Amino acid sequence: MKLKFWGVRGSIPTSGPAYVRYGGNTPCIEVHTDDGTLLILDAGTGIRGLGEDLAAAGKSVTASILITHPHWDHIQGFPFFKPAFVPGNAITIIGPQRSDITLERIIADQMTNIYFPVQLHELKATIAFHSVLEDDFMIGSARIRTMYMNHPGYTVGYRIDADGKSLVYISDNEVFSTEMMKQATNFEPSILNLFQSTNGDANKRIYDFAQGADVLIHDATYTPQEYKDKVTWGHSHYQFALQVARKAAVKRLYLFHHEPSRSDDAMDAIVGRCAEIMNDARDAFICDAAREGDELTW
Ligand SMILES: [Zn+2]
Repeated sequence: MKLKFWGVRGSIPTSGPAYVRYGGNTPCIEVHTDDGTLLILDAGTGIRGLGEDLAAAGKSVTASILITHPHWDHIQGFPFFKPAFVPGNAITIIGPQRSDITLERIIADQMTNIYFPVQLHELKATIAFHSVLEDDFMIGSARIRTMYMNHPGYTVGYRIDADGKSLVYISDNEVFSTEMMKQATNFEPSILNLFQSTNGDANKRIYDFAQGADVLIHDATYTPQEYKDKVTWGHSHYQFALQVARKAAVKRLYLFHHEPSRSDDAMDAIVGRCAEIMNDARDAFICDAAREGDELTW
């Protein structure tokens, strides 16, 4: 399996000299399994660069875009994804199901003529939609599992297992505390119930989902200090990302969904702080903060 980060920033793109090393695009990760199956995790602004790269290769594109949830930072790049404009290409968009609106409508609505010059039905590629609950299915050689995360609306994480390798992608997920989540107003009651009905640590369902993964990509938007003012915003601090990696016994953790105003130097400081915490805890996994352009093959 191999991956490449095309966007690692949360919430809104950022640019400027303070952000060049980690990058400013919103979430998008390219994943290939050994049989050539192309999976794209989220369609944030990073997908524009991926689309340019795929178009430059000059081959027809068959891809599945796995959307965690349709908040802007996870879908706003799709209208700029070049392969969607090319006849013969086949794109399947996968994302969480809602009862009030279809996944197709959600993607189409950000391209109505109020917001965008080209409408979804004008795209030349074949575009299919597949909405998911907590599911388990195959794409090529990859087994895909989804699980609801603790984030406003319906948000899933993805686990990909293929060729004996595994990757877990949890872009937006808040540490669950029954006490703190009493204040939550934008969260789905049925999903809060899933966490609340877990015996012991309510986050255990997340640890189980990521158990033994080779690579875990997890929300680490905040520092623990910042998080105190952001409870129920749907995001984690880096100490919780470390905790998920530890409890799930993963081999490698990437901190992800970086706070938009977090400079490169501030990111370095967080990576350094995580190394200290891991040293004290005698953690065996590798931890880094995801950087745009980083690639990994395993
Ligand atoms: Zn997000």
